Amino acid sequence: MAPVSDLITIDEARRRVLTAVTRLGDEPVALREALGRVLSEDLSSPLPVPPFDSSAMDGFAVVAGPATELSVVGEARAGHPYGGAVEAGQAVRISTGAVLPEGADAVVPVERTTAVKEAVSVPSAEPGENVRRAGEDIPLNAVVLQAGTQLGPAELGVAASVGRAELRCASKPRVAVLVTGDELTEPGAALAPGGIYSSNAYALSAQVERAGGEVIEPITVPDDRGGTWAALEQALDSADVVVVSGGVSVGPHDHVKPALRDLGVEERFWGVRLRPGKPTWFGVRGETLAFGLPGNPVSAMVTFQLFARPALAALQGAAPDARRVTARLESPIPRNPQREQAIRVNLLQSQDGLDAAPTKGAQGSHVLTSMIGADGLALIAPGEGDAPAGERVEVELL
Ligand code: AMP
Ligand code: MG
Repeated sequence: MAPVSDLITIDEARRRVLTAVTRLGDEPVALREALGRVLSEDLSSPLPVPPFDSSAMDGFAVVAGPATELSVVGEARAGHPYGGAVEAGQAVRISTGAVLPEGADAVVPVERTTAVKEAVSVPSAEPGENVRRAGEDIPLNAVVLQAGTQLGPAELGVAASVGRAELRCASKPRVAVLVTGDELTEPGAALAPGGIYSSNAYALSAQVERAGGEVIEPITVPDDRGGTWAALEQALDSADVVVVSGGVSVGPHDHVKPALRDLGVEERFWGVRLRPGKPTWFGVRGETLAFGLPGNPVSAMVTFQLFARPALAALQGAAPDARRVTARLESPIPRNPQREQAIRVNLLQSQDGLDAAPTKGAQGSHVLTSMIGADGLALIAPGEGDAPAGERVEVELL
């Protein structure tokens, strides 16, 4: 690998990834299937919501005016409008959500009235009192959701409220997850001498799904040239994005880079001024993206978060940048002289903003438990000595 001074920054690496992205197409998706998908149309409302003036309370629909006694001429229930009009001297019993009858312009809550046989005694009412106006939530033709929005529960509810059963969403990127290493054992099987369980296959697949991608069955690849080649060839033919962990360094048993190059993947970067995650490789074949991530479990997750996740967002037309917040370091953190560090932190609300505290225990690139419960990655600039407690740093939220 090039000397550290030649490595590129996180920002530059991310820029090169995003430059290589061509957006995927889109498809209709039923609302029930659309959670987490990225909208590819601007959603405008073909109706006002609520669709009609309605009552905000259970009570009586009246013509606004001073306190008086009114004769009750009928009832309006949710889904069952009152057919007639309300005139001066009259009231219509009304439930929450029912259409405000013609002529009425206010609703008096039932608890402020007194029933008198077929009549009701009401206090004074102002026009518009306890009335929800048509379009108060969403005016007719308003754009309620913009293309690029990731659909969560509220977005799906809003889409339903304007009557949409289907939405046009970006196609899900198909992602091949390959993990390399003769030592890797599937959870559930017995460990052979020197074996470890393959955590990356599970953590990376879950990260892909979180980012809106569809994982093609993860494959474990042996540390040999032929096996690496065959697995990568198939992955490149079937996926939009290939994510390989391990085997990307320069040891005699690291076959990923030469195989990718031989298979026609053009290198866009090799090595990032980042800790953990220096030995990260990225290349492109046609519109297919290939990420060679370090095998160490924390490095794999961190580099996925910083480089592959933005690519998956951009492929779907969503904003690639994860949310970032500024926080103050709760304790000093030794700087790395040359590399930016991604420290796993918890964020704590303090009197004047957020404090970032490293997750418990060691932060080594093999200490996967340091990712548990982490709220974000605090990005610590390179330099000498410590980044002091109280220093403001950017935190990329996980
Ligand atoms: P490598 O990048 O292949 O040199 O691997 C670096 C370290 O990460 C080694 O200790 C590997 O055993 C470990 N490692 C590689 N792949 C995985 C995986 N899928 N799950 C857990 N650890 C892994
Ligand atoms: Mg390996």
